Amino acid sequence: MNYKDLEVWFVTGAQLLYGGDAVVKVDAHSNEMVKGLNDSGRLPIKVVYKGTANSSAEVSEIMRAANGDTKCVGIITWMHTFSPAKMWIHGLMDYKKPLLHLHTQYNETIPWNEIDMDFMNLNQSAHGDREFGHITSRLRKPRKVVVGYWKDKSTQEKIAIWMRVCAAWEDAQNMRIIRFGDNMNNVAVTDGDKVEAEIRLGYHVDNAPIAKLVPYVEAVTEAEIDALVAEYCNLYDFAPNAAKGGKDHQFVRDAAAQEIGLRRFLVDKKATAFTTSFDELEGMKQLMGFASQRLMAEGFGFGAEGDWKTAALCRTMWVMAQGLPGGCSFLEDYTLNFDGNNSSILQAHMLEINPEIAAKKPRVEVHYLGIGDSGTCARLVFQAHEGEGIACTIVDMGNRFRMICNDVDVIKPKDLPKLPVACALWKPMPNFEIGAGAWILAGGTHHSSFSFSLTKEYMEDYAEIADVELLLIDKDTNIRNFKQDIRNNEVYYMLNKALR
Ligand code: MN
Repeated sequence: MNYKDLEVWFVTGAQLLYGGDAVVKVDAHSNEMVKGLNDSGRLPIKVVYKGTANSSAEVSEIMRAANGDTKCVGIITWMHTFSPAKMWIHGLMDYKKPLLHLHTQYNETIPWNEIDMDFMNLNQSAHGDREFGHITSRLRKPRKVVVGYWKDKSTQEKIAIWMRVCAAWEDAQNMRIIRFGDNMNNVAVTDGDKVEAEIRLGYHVDNAPIAKLVPYVEAVTEAEIDALVAEYCNLYDFAPNAAKGGKDHQFVRDAAAQEIGLRRFLVDKKATAFTTSFDELEGMKQLMGFASQRLMAEGFGFGAEGDWKTAALCRTMWVMAQGLPGGCSFLEDYTLNFDGNNSSILQAHMLEINPEIAAKKPRVEVHYLGIGDSGTCARLVFQAHEGEGIACTIVDMGNRFRMICNDVDVIKPKDLPKLPVACALWKPMPNFEIGAGAWILAGGTHHSSFSFSLTKEYMEDYAEIADVELLLIDKDTNIRNFKQDIRNNEVYYMLNKALR
């Protein structure tokens, strides 16, 4: 997975009022800026200059082309001269992909001694970008506004983040999530409206009886298992009972067969995310925990107990983070540790944590798991490394999806000799009391999609593109304002549809 086949289009707004010379200069400047952005090495997706738009017909033509182009994942607009914004109305109303409005200027500083009226007529983004901002606001068009000089690192980094989110958004429009089994009985927070999810977020939630997967696992050959177990031996340590010759080694081989069969099944179905259920395992020798850990590291989104929203979000956040250090994982709020200012939450699951976030070489262990039909299961056991990250979830509020994003500080846990699971320990920001309190007031899940690689700016861009509610919990959060934000949003989303 990478972004090499994707493009972001750059469209410069201008008009013909200032004559042909001005248009030629606008075009030359735009070309130079696009080349500069591409040569900066900071943008993960190629910028393609699509020329200046000088009329309503030209704007509409570019927007329609962008909608139909499979490589184009978003458009950056910039108004070099004053571009009367009525000419953008039809095009922007038609446009269906992410939009970034760059408020910048070709020249960095005012050439105090040379500046004349010709210069002024040409370099008018100061008011041209306000005219464009007005019409995008009037149309209630979601977009990211980036303000800054185009050569500056901070400007380019904001564009880079948005580009990664555009790639993930595009990926989500083609995402298929396979669910092996339904949501865990009676659980509310992980369920939701799958039809609305496809309308609003793009992805398709499918299901497959576990019986369809069983033949894929049974068809895996001993030679294929040998090869994969050899790979495990290179990558991981082994508990004595799980190692070759150990009494429970067969469970590791069974897990390897599950990994190969599950991957083949998902590829056959063109699925990039999946959920499992410990209650739906007829014909399987164990809960597919080890396989889930391994496939998560390859970029398959994962949600436990039928949690399709978290599976989709894990995939989306993995796509955003392509090539960045850190790693991501499905995680669950496991148990609390009250310890004054260091109060924290142990994050784990029965089995399914992505080894990408491990501090040290993971260890293959085999233990009996009593819940549901899980049986005796192989799993990778490790502790996450320390560092800052974000925990995210999407919940269905009945009339809308709500995304919640919490800055968290992952700290070092103590050893857990009797709890053989992979885990992380974090302090939610701004502290345990406010962080956990705000998450609960927001109605957030006990499952989350966690990332060391991303920041809340990615999720802000995602929520803007998807046009879903976003509640951020960070160092500035206080409960009184947070509750008022929730009340305000309640009214906003009630009226939102009427406004559009
Ligand atoms: Mn769970």
